[in-house]
Amino acid sequence: MLRIDFSKAEVLKSAFSAQAMTFCEPAVKNALVAVIDLLAIETGTRAAREEWQRAQINNLLAHCASRSSFWRRRIGSRNVKSLDLHLLPILRRRDLIAQVASEQSLLRAPDRIGVALHSTSGSSGMPTKFYVSAMNMEYNNIRGMAQYFIEGRELTKPKTLLQHSPEHFADGFNVERKGSWLYHLDSFFASGGTKHIKYFHPAIRKLATELARDEIGYLIASPRIIEPLLREAEEELLSNSGLSMWMPIGEGVDDSLREKFAQRGVPVRSSYSAEEVGLIASECEFTPGKFHVATSNVVVEIDRGEKIDMNGVELGRVLVTHLHSYATPMIRYDIGDFASLAAVCPCGHDGPTLSNICGRTKSLLKHADQSITPFYVRNSELLEIVNLREYRIRQTGYRTIKIELCAQDDVTQCQRSRLIELLKRHCTDSFDVEVQVVKEIDWGSDRKRLGYRCDIL
Ligand SMILES: [Zn+2]
Repeated sequence: MLRIDFSKAEVLKSAFSAQAMTFCEPAVKNALVAVIDLLAIETGTRAAREEWQRAQINNLLAHCASRSSFWRRRIGSRNVKSLDLHLLPILRRRDLIAQVASEQSLLRAPDRIGVALHSTSGSSGMPTKFYVSAMNMEYNNIRGMAQYFIEGRELTKPKTLLQHSPEHFADGFNVERKGSWLYHLDSFFASGGTKHIKYFHPAIRKLATELARDEIGYLIASPRIIEPLLREAEEELLSNSGLSMWMPIGEGVDDSLREKFAQRGVPVRSSYSAEEVGLIASECEFTPGKFHVATSNVVVEIDRGEKIDMNGVELGRVLVTHLHSYATPMIRYDIGDFASLAAVCPCGHDGPTLSNICGRTKSLLKHADQSITPFYVRNSELLEIVNLREYRIRQTGYRTIKIELCAQDDVTQCQRSRLIELLKRHCTDSFDVEVQVVKEIDWGSDRKRLGYRCDIL
C-alpha cells in the first residue's frame, strides 16, 4: 500500500502557512502536487499511464490538426481522436525546420501561455530552431526535482555544478555560491546550497582544491573535466569530499571511469535528454546502463527501419513523441540517436526502459555502405600523445575524420603521426585523418562542446 510520510524529510520550522484555514503556502502546495502528479504517472500502474498518454496524444494531434497545415498534411484523412501514432510519418530534423520556418509557434498570444524560441547546439550545419512553452520549462524544473523523490535522495546535500564557459577567469575558473537548489520547495524542506563553478582551461590542481574545500554533494559535470580532475586528485575527490553522486552531462561515460566511482561506492546517474523535448529517460538506480523512460513527458518508439549492430546488440532509431509539445509539435521525432527498448526494467520498474543509447553525438561512425559502427576515443589516449588543452573530433565525410586540437606546446610531426595512427586504429575502415592545430576551437553555438560528433548521421 502507498504510504506518504514526511518523518524522514527535514520540514522547516517555517514551512507552513500562518493564514487561517490554510496548511501549506500556495506556491509550495502547487509544487508538491506537481511532483506527486508526475510520480503517480511514472510509478503508478501501466494501464492508467497508457490511458493518460493516449488521451494526451489525441489532445496534441487535435491541436496540430486545428492550427497547422503542415500537420494536417501529415495526418491526412485519419481521425485524430482514434489515430494510432505509428501510422504517422517520422518527423525528421528537416521537417521540423520546415514547419517552424513556415508556421512559427502553434501557441499564440490568445492562448496566454508564454513561448520562447530555442535552438539545438549544432557544431556544424544548421542549428534546429523550435519553440517551447512556459509549461515545458516549468515541467523540466518539477521533473528534475521529482527524481530526488523517486529515489529518496537526501535533499539536505549540496549541489555542485561544473560548467564549461569560455570566459576569462583567474586560474581558469570562477565560483559562485547560490542558495537552495530545491526550486519552489526551498521554503518547505531543508536543502543544501548550490555551488556553481564556471571554467575555461582551468588550472586542474587549483580546481581540485576548490572542489574539495566544501562538501560536494551532487556533482553535475562532464566526463571531460572529471577525467583530468581524477588524474590529479582521485582520493581527495572521491573519498574525502562528501561526494554523494555524479550526474554526468554532455557525453557518454567510459566504463573505466564509472568503475573508479563504483570502487568508492559513489553512484553515477546519467539522464538522457534532448534540448528539443527535455527529459527522455533517467538511469535506473539499481541497474546501471538501463534508463527508465520519463513517461510523464514522452512516448519513445524504436524504428526498426534502420537497424544497427552494436557489439552484437541490435539497435534502432529513437523516435520521441513529446506529449506537451504544443508550441512546436514533436511527434515521432527522430532525435538522431540509436538505442534498444524493453517493456520493463530488470529492477522491477513496470515501464519502458532504454539501453545502449548511442548516436550522432554519442560515438558512432557512419560508413559509405550506410552501416554504422561504434567509435570511442578516450581522453587519456590522446593525452598520452600530446598535452592537450581542448579537442574536438568530427566525422565530416564517409571516409574523413577531423581532429582539431589546442595544445600546450608545439605539436611535432611525430605526435601528428601518432594521433593519425590512433584515430585510424579506432575506425573500422580506411579513413583519412586530418589533424588541425588551432589556437581556440570555434564551438559556435555548440554549448555542449562534445569531444566527438558525427556530422553525417
Ligand atoms: Zn530499473
